[in-house]
Amino acid sequence: MKNILEAKRLNKVYEISKENSLQVLRDVEISIPQGEFVSVMGASGSGKSTLLYNISGMDRATSGSILLCDEEISTMGEDDLSALRLEKMGFVFQQSNLLANLNILDNIVYPGFAAKKVNRKDIVIAAKKLMSRMGISALADNDITQASGGQLQRVAICRALINDPIILFGDEPTGALNSKAANDVMDILTDINGNGTTIMLVTHDAKVAARTERVFFMADGIIKGECRLGKSNKEQNPKAREKHLSQWLEEMGL
Ligand code: ADP
Ligand code: MG
Repeated sequence: MKNILEAKRLNKVYEISKENSLQVLRDVEISIPQGEFVSVMGASGSGKSTLLYNISGMDRATSGSILLCDEEISTMGEDDLSALRLEKMGFVFQQSNLLANLNILDNIVYPGFAAKKVNRKDIVIAAKKLMSRMGISALADNDITQASGGQLQRVAICRALINDPIILFGDEPTGALNSKAANDVMDILTDINGNGTTIMLVTHDAKVAARTERVFFMADGIIKGECRLGKSNKEQNPKAREKHLSQWLEEMGL
């Protein structure tokens, strides 16, 4: 499969003060083929979020190359880069980050509208289709205060998918959820990946990572290794995947 994302010699250095700097990514190399579902694990502070933000162009790496569908994004201007993020990437975070002044349907519609690709009527149709797929159709007119954490995360996933991105990034998208809601979100992400969307998740939860196809392990800004689990499917015993992964993580020192 063709790589959808390729980072080479990616470095990120934070300048803390005139004398002090902190190198958080060290010559990271990572390639993600189209359609893959990958996750990144590692201790807190190892640089997982930084990797996700830099590889997706949300933040600017200090040096290195990032190819998204063969297009170099590290040298792209701000306007082109934000348009690219809006149209080709979806983002889900630990908190759903929805707008409190919009109802749930409008929160989903908003980035579709911002991309100016199709008219509002078509965006609303697409949003309703996504909501139905995620089992949250009944919430369309609700305020964001009128939904559970798990439901809000499903709203956030709908919003992330409204422009039909080629890659979906998640930074601890299940981090604030109970295990049932986390599992439901993983069912949805697995389904989305099954329809061809490439997904890259950061998680500290081995149960979540065990449902992805390939798990990267990060320590001190370096990718120390990867564990290939293959695509998960319903026939497979999830416990066997979890066991395999936890043994590997133990070897890696987590
Ligand atoms: P993780 O997601 O693995 O917990 P992060 O990528 O958030 O780790 O952070 C990695 C390191 O970079 C940490 O030591 C963190 O304190 C530091 N860091 C993150 N963002 C900044 C920033 N904007 N300025 C300075 N240091 C930062
Ligand atoms: Mg983080």
